[in-house]
Amino acid sequence: MQDYEAEGWWAHTVSYGDGVYSARCPECARFVKTDETAKRLFESADLAEDNATCRKHGRVKTPFLCWASDCQT
Ligand SMILES: [Zn+2]
Repeated sequence: MQDYEAEGWWAHTVSYGDGVYSARCPECARFVKTDETAKRLFESADLAEDNATCRKHGRVKTPFLCWASDCQT
């Protein structure tokens, strides 16, 4: 099992509205195929439904990284 640096979660990201998520599986950190759109809980970063497919774990929710307005450099 490979160890991933924290910044590895930023290698591939996906945005839904103003929420930025890592395009990796929360279980194994594999890159996942993300959906074009995802439902978010109202005024929350939490995804209402699974939005990505991991080759090993099936449908998963990608981990929230930040709000787009907060992580612009
Ligand atoms: Zn996985």
